[in-house]
Amino acid sequence: LRGDDEQMDSGEKEFEKALRPLSFDDFAGQDKVVENLKIFVKAAKLRSEPLDHVLLHGPPGLGKTTLSHIIANELGAGIKVTSGPVLDKASELAGLLTNLEAHDVLFIDEIHRLNPVVEEYLYSAMEDYRIDILLDSGPNARSVQISLEPFTLIGATTRSGLLTSPLRARFGINSRLEYYDAKLLTSIVGRSADILETPIDQEAAYEIARRSRGTPRISNNLLRRTRDFAQIKGDGAITLDIAKMALKALDVDDHGLDEMDNRILATIIEKFKGGPVGLSTIATACGEEAETIEEVYEPFLIMEGYIKRTSRGRQATERAYQHLGHIPPQEMGRLF
Ligand code: ADP
Repeated sequence: LRGDDEQMDSGEKEFEKALRPLSFDDFAGQDKVVENLKIFVKAAKLRSEPLDHVLLHGPPGLGKTTLSHIIANELGAGIKVTSGPVLDKASELAGLLTNLEAHDVLFIDEIHRLNPVVEEYLYSAMEDYRIDILLDSGPNARSVQISLEPFTLIGATTRSGLLTSPLRARFGINSRLEYYDAKLLTSIVGRSADILETPIDQEAAYEIARRSRGTPRISNNLLRRTRDFAQIKGDGAITLDIAKMALKALDVDDHGLDEMDNRILATIIEKFKGGPVGLSTIATACGEEAETIEEVYEPFLIMEGYIKRTSRGRQATERAYQHLGHIPPQEMGRLF
C-alpha cells in the first residue's frame, strides 16, 4: 500500500496507467503548480520553443509521473521515460538523448540517484543541447560532439535536498507537490471508481480518501482492494460498511496510518522512550530501510504532527502517544 513505485508489480502498474489523468483538466489539485505549468507550456508553444527543464519534487504517489506525461501531451510532444538508478551508463543517456525529436520530453524519475558521471553529461545536454562523447581510451582517446534536438528534461525526486547544486541550477521550473486534502482525494476516488465502473457511495469514497495519507496512489490502491471486498462480501457496490471492513482488513487505522506508520511510532515510544532517536536506529528496529522511512513514511507523520525532527533525531509528539493509547510524558509529569 505504500506510495512507492519500486514495490509495484505489473498488475498494479497497468491499473495505475488506466487511472492516470491525461490532461491538465483531469488532474485534480496542486492548483498553483498546474496553473503555472499551463502558462509555461502555452508560452513555449506560442514561441515554438522547447519548454524549460522542469524539476518536480515531493513524496511518492502525488502525481509527478502523471504530470510529466500530461506536460508532454499538452506540448503535443513525445516522452521517453527512465530513472536515475536505471540510467547507469553515459552511453545509455546518449542513446536516449539522440533519439529525442524536437521539443520532446525526457522524464528521469528519482533524478537524485543519478550516477555522477551520467549527471555530468546531462549538464551540457540541458544547457546547450549537445553532448561530448569520449571515444576510445588511453592515447587514442578523443571526444566527439553530438548536437541534440532541443528537448525538455523533467526530473522527479522525492529528495530534492540530495540534488547537486549544478544540476538543480539547470532547471528553469521548480515545482513542489503537496499532500492532497480529503476533499480532493474523494473526487479522485470517485473518478477512479467511474473508470473502473464500480458503484461507490459518497461516504465510502470520503472514508477511503481521508485514510489515504494524502496520496492519490494510496487512494487508488485502497479503492482497488475495497472493490474486491465489495465483490466478495457485498453486491459489488462499495458502501461505507464495505469500505470500513476493507480498511480494517488492510490494517489502515482510523487516522489513515498503516501498519508501518504505527510500528514506527510504537518503536520510538516503546523502545526509545519517545526519542530523540536516530533514523537508522529506528529503521533497524522496524525492519525497514532508513531511506524508505525518510522518503515515504516520515514526511506524512511529520506533517500530521506525530513526530518531530530534532538535531538529535526523531521524537514522538503528544499526538503520537495519544494515538497509541499511551500517556504522554508531559501528562505523566502533571499526574505525579
Ligand atoms: P509519483 O510519480 O509522484 O510517484 P504518480 O504520478 O505515479 O506519482 O501518481 C500515482 C497515481 O496516482 C497515478 O496512477 C495517478 O492515477 C494518481 N494520481 C496522482 N495525482 C493525481 C491527480 N492529481 N488526480 C488524479 N489522479 C492522480
